[in-house]
Amino acid sequence: MTFYVTTAIPYVNAPPHLGHALELVQADVLARHRRSRGEPVRFLTGTDDNAGKNVTAARAAGAQVGAFVRANADRFAALREPLELSFDDFIRTGSDPRHAPGVTALWRRSEPDFYRHSYTGLYCPGCEQFLDGNACPEHPAAPEPVAETNWFFRLSRYQRQILDVLESGRVRVEPAARRNEVLAFVRSGLRDISVSRPATRAAGWGIGVPGDPDQVVYVWWDALANYVTALGDGDDLRTWWLESAERVHVIGKGIVRFHAVHWLALLLSAGLPLPTTILVHDYLTVDGAKLAKSVGNVVDPLALADRYGVDALRWWLLSEVAPVGDTDFTVERLTARADRDLANGIGNLVNRTLALARRHGHRRAAAVPSDLPDRIDAALTTGDFRAATAAVRAEADRGNRLLEAARPWKLAHPGPVLAEALGICRVLADELRPFLPSGAERVRAQLRCDGPPRPVFARLGGAAPRLTAGR
Ligand SMILES: [Zn+2]
Repeated sequence: MTFYVTTAIPYVNAPPHLGHALELVQADVLARHRRSRGEPVRFLTGTDDNAGKNVTAARAAGAQVGAFVRANADRFAALREPLELSFDDFIRTGSDPRHAPGVTALWRRSEPDFYRHSYTGLYCPGCEQFLDGNACPEHPAAPEPVAETNWFFRLSRYQRQILDVLESGRVRVEPAARRNEVLAFVRSGLRDISVSRPATRAAGWGIGVPGDPDQVVYVWWDALANYVTALGDGDDLRTWWLESAERVHVIGKGIVRFHAVHWLALLLSAGLPLPTTILVHDYLTVDGAKLAKSVGNVVDPLALADRYGVDALRWWLLSEVAPVGDTDFTVERLTARADRDLANGIGNLVNRTLALARRHGHRRAAAVPSDLPDRIDAALTTGDFRAATAAVRAEADRGNRLLEAARPWKLAHPGPVLAEALGICRVLADELRPFLPSGAERVRAQLRCDGPPRPVFARLGGAAPRLTAGR
């Protein structure tokens, strides 16, 4: 059962913020979880280098566009180690030699669906899209009136097929609230869309339309293509796209239409398989305000991981962010969650169990029946990371309740209780791996060795001590 998972590729008009970390960590958990179940996995992420807003941001910073894009893209790639991400591939649409030829090849496959058309409309540079008459909900600044002749794509031709794959669940959109929104949008009628821009307005930044050097491919068309251009046109494409059992996109709620409508139409037009699942996360706010460069509250995920540890950061993102509805981040919430679940929950169970086991020279772990793997599998199928981590927490609670009820420290022969508690610790150590790779490894290492147990998770409390890796 091959599993291909991707994140959206962010614009590189600014360094990564906490919202990017959320999406990367979610996709990472899915990839690690499937690998832990023995499935072949490919995990792709990258950066959208070809957007006009990158050009605008570079100019505002007084920087040369290429260098500016490269520097910010480097910062996204550099999240890999500190956030313990396990992506197999990182595509930069501006410089990756696989990308432009792949976009050109895809474009050629859809040529019967393109036509030239003159157009006047309001364009939101923040979204890189024309607005349908209404103001942009995400960018309150005035949209730009734009009149130009572009290549249009016959999106309307695919309305019936898109409705069919979404209604039948052949393409699954989770959570259901997002699926219902996109279904309502498709039912309201799909109009043809502009899929190119004059090269002059794009400042020459982007990929030329095949056979029309005056136009560049619309940045969204270019960006969506990365999911297949990164696979080339040989074995990887066959394994991970054409024949993969699952093709999963993890995206934010602002770009559902691009993925659940435009991308599907592009693939249908090109005669390629569709994604099987689109998992949509909501947005983070910080102290009640949206995460945006312009709002000035950008939270640096690297600084958080450095100060509070990657375990605490990943655990907060996975266990507190709601599948639907914005979630507010505060440092107090991050440290309180880590202390409650990791230090006092899992850490306390492991520490008490191992300390007692050592004192009694007990090593045997019982094979305890646990529904934890099934509960995690079910939760992650729908992208419900909160439910998955709640199941982990429940297993730790079960272990701690066992110790409180049986009080093995009062028993002359605590062997059976310790065996059961060690069994629960083993299950936890295994199932924790996708969520907290190094934290789970520390638990496993302590279960294996004979030294005195040390706290697996530091208590962050108010003082928030600086953590070391401690592996
Ligand atoms: Zn917008």
